[in-house]
Formats: sequence, structure tokens, C-alpha cells
Amino acid sequence: MKAYRKELFFDVSTRRAFIHITHQVDECLIESGIQEGFCLVNAMHITASVFINDNEPGLHQDYEEWLERLAPHEPISQYRHNRTGEDNGDAHLKRQVMGREVVVAVTEGRLDLGTWERIFYGEFDGKRRKRVLVKIIGE
Ligand code: ZN
Repeated sequence: MKAYRKELFFDVSTRRAFIHITHQVDECLIESGIQEGFCLVNAMHITASVFINDNEPGLHQDYEEWLERLAPHEPISQYRHNRTGEDNGDAHLKRQVMGREVVVAVTEGRLDLGTWERIFYGEFDGKRRKRVLVKIIGE
């Protein structure tokens, strides 16, 4: 069995963003040389997500508005977490809803995604460098 590990870095200039990363994960898979197995992609931060859905800008705007209704950033005083001096209480909740990781099957050297499935990085507390782990195992 082969094992491959790589960290991807993101430095988002805004507080929140959704970034399409399917191509970067594809490149990892090619680099790994693995033909059959599994590919795990996870955010290594508790205020960011990795998820799979449609690459459609309207949907991403819907996520942004829906998440802001569920857990508005302001006023920051509404979150107990922010009593620690942080201002990212909302980002922890948004991350919980959007998830930590995805696992994609690898078949014949390709990510075995559904027709409209694409992989995204969700940033909820940006303006700093953050990491995503790609781990691929198989043969
Ligand atoms: Zn925090």
C-alpha cells in the first residue's frame, strides 16, 4: 500500500470565502501515483471547512447568507467564546455546519466524484495563512 501526504496553504484576504480546490486535489492524486484507494481532504483549522457541492456562484452566495443568518459575525458580544478575547465565535459554528473533511474514492487514478460534485475550502476566519491536509492511501 502507498501513502501520500501533502499540505495545501490558503491565505484568504477576506474574513470569509469559498475556494474551489478540486484541481489542486487532482494534482495531489497525480503526484501520488495511486490508482485505487481513498483520498481524505481536511481543514487543519477549527474555523475552516472542506466540503463537496456544486461549483455554482449563486449557491455560494446562498451559503454565505444562510450561514450569516444562522451565526452572524456581529455583534461579537453575542458569543461566549469571544469572552476569551477572540472575535471568531461565529466562525467555529460555521465550520461545524459546513464540516471538517471529505473522503473521495480513487478509481483508475481519478477522483471518483459525482457529475456535479466539486471540492471546496470554506474560510470563516481568514486574513491569515491556513492549511488543508490531503492524505491519499491505496495502491
Ligand atoms: Zn476561536
